[in-house]
Order: sequence, then structure tokens, then C-alpha cells
Amino acid sequence: MIYDLIIIGLGPAGISAAIYAKRAGIKILGLESEAPGGLLNKINAVDNYPGYKHVMGPDLAFQMYEQINDLGVEYKIKKVTNIEVNGDIKKVYCNEEVFEAKNIIIATGRKAKKLGLKNENKFVGKGVSYCATCDGALYKGKDVAVVGGGNSAIEEALYLANIVNKVYLIHRRDEFRAEQELVDNLKDMNNIEILYNRTVTELVGEENLEKIVLDDGKELEVSCLFTYVGYEPYSDFLSDLSITDEKGYIKVDENYQTSIKGIYAVGDAILKKVYQIVTATSEGAIAALEVAKRVKKG
Ligand SMILES: Cc1cc2nc3c(=O)[nH]c(=O)nc-3n(C[C@H](O)[C@H](O)[C@H](O)COP(=O)(O)OP(=O)(O)OC[C@H]3O[C@@H](n4cnc5c(N)ncnc54)[C@H](O)[C@@H]3O)c2cc1C
Repeated sequence: MIYDLIIIGLGPAGISAAIYAKRAGIKILGLESEAPGGLLNKINAVDNYPGYKHVMGPDLAFQMYEQINDLGVEYKIKKVTNIEVNGDIKKVYCNEEVFEAKNIIIATGRKAKKLGLKNENKFVGKGVSYCATCDGALYKGKDVAVVGGGNSAIEEALYLANIVNKVYLIHRRDEFRAEQELVDNLKDMNNIEILYNRTVTELVGEENLEKIVLDDGKELEVSCLFTYVGYEPYSDFLSDLSITDEKGYIKVDENYQTSIKGIYAVGDAILKKVYQIVTATSEGAIAALEVAKRVKKG
């Protein structure tokens, strides 16, 4: 079967694309490597998505998932490993399995960057984490550190402060680049100690992380280091297509089409200014309606 549209990744961007495409009456297939809802499954509270004053990320993910289920969207839990373009038909490979479509929307999002420290990989799951919502509860009553200065770092430090004994918030500059409202909330938490102009240089421990060393030689005894120092898009599988910039972000036009006709990209995987749920869902809708228009034109 040749689908009108294959959507790769079912986070907010891909789910929104699926809702609009399905309601437009075209034949679609969603391919998701982990769980529908994407990053929402791994984040804490969302306070800036219209219609919800305050909603937990996993709850919002579940509501989005229910919406595509109720609509009867066909999807499979499969990781896409390659895309091949043969004229108007695009082949989407999931290891040995291959699916065909006239159009593709890539909505694969992005992942947290590693700090790049020696031993970092060794301590993943044993004292180094990239997801406070997933792992925070493991460190109840303990001391932890968070590295970063953007919205994600501050949100997660605030989240952890309600669970753990103490949070060291380490930032390499002398002011945060996060939204002011979030930064102001830090003042309300008396168990967050902010360390400006510092970086982490060493991770120390036998089996599990026991302490971290900062660039001024200071040692902090922490059970976990949560890092939020930037992101990299999930776009390795696109390397043959030359549609990304040097950092791997997908380049698109105003309709979210890449330089290849019929291949669109939306959400956190694209090069853009604002990486939020509201922008991801908007882009998914625009791209899906563009595809539906193309399909109906024939
Ligand atoms: C800690 C944190 C807090 C945040 N808080 C907020 C907030 O309060 N408000 C807000 O608006 N935004 C927030 N965001 C940002 C928001 O989560 C993202 O902007 C949004 O999830 C992007 O949606 P997306 O669909 O583009 O990507 P994602 O949500 O990342 O979904 C991408 C999906 O693609 C799948 N995928 C990846 N590669 C493949 C592949 N090869 N094959 C198949 N599937 C694949 C992934 O498994 C994933 O499910 C936060 C982000 C973080 C990290």
C-alpha cells in the first residue's frame, strides 16, 4: 500500500499533523519509536499551553494519544532508520521493514546534549540523568545538581527541589537565559543553591556517582547530576538527503517543506526560533494541510 502521508515521530508536532491529515481524509501512517506524546512523557508540569492552566506532561501526552486513537489514526511503534526518495514515492525504512508514501512529515524532535565529560556514559542511570521527571524520585531526600541556564534547567531544578534535600544549580554564565517568571520562582525555594560562572569538570564515584568537581576545584557530594545544556535533533537517519544544517536541524520553507518536494518537517527537529509545544502543534497542522492540498490536487 502506498500511503498519502507517513508521519515520522508522534510527539505534539506529529500528533497534530496526524489529527489534521486524518480529518482531511487522506491515507496516513504514523511511525513512532517510543511512545506517542514524545517529550511530554518526560516533562513535568506545562503551564503555557493554551486551554490548560496547569497540566502534567504525561497527562497531556495521554490526551493527545487518545485523540488520535479515537480518530482511528493508523500507527506503528517502529524506529525509522532511513528514507529513500524514488521520484514521487518515498520509501521509509524501519530496519528490515519498508513503508511507502507520496509524502512524509518528519517530526522526530530532539534530545538533550551530553556534557562530554569522561565517565559520563558510565554513570548514566547511576548518577547522571537527562530527565528529572523520569529519575527525580530515585533521589528523594538526597542532594543533587542541575547544570544549565535555560528554561528546561530552571523548570527541572524547581521540580527536583520539591523531592530532594538540596539542589545545586550550576550555570556557566552570570545570569540565566530562562524566562524571568521561572527565574523569579527560584527565590521561593530555600533548598536551591545557585552557583554562577562555574562548570562541571569531573564526575567521581566507584559504581555510582558520589561527587562532582567544579572548575574552581570545589567538590559537591551529590547523588545525581541532571544536565540541560542544549539539544541535538534526531536527524541522523536523514544524512543521505542533505536537508539539515551543520548541527543536524532540518531546514524548511514557510510551509514546512524541505528542499525535497513532498518531504516536510515540523517541531523541535527543525531550524527555528521557538521550541515549544504550541509551535510544534501549529507547524504540524500547517504541514498536514499542505500535504492534504497536494494529495487532493493529484
Ligand atoms: C525539560 C523540558 C521541559 C519542557 N517544558 C515545556 C513547557 O513547559 N511548555 C512547552 O510548550 N514546551 C516545553 N518543552 C518543549 C516541548 O517538550 C517540545 O517543544 C515539544 O515536545 C516538541 O514536540 P515534537 O513533537 O517536535 O518533538 P518530541 O516531543 O520530542 O517528539 C518527537 C517524537 O519522535 C520520536 N522519534 C524520534 N526519532 C524517531 C525515529 N527515527 N523513528 C520514529 N520516531 C522517532 C520520539 O520518540 C518522540 O516521540 C520542554 C522540554 C523539556 C526538555
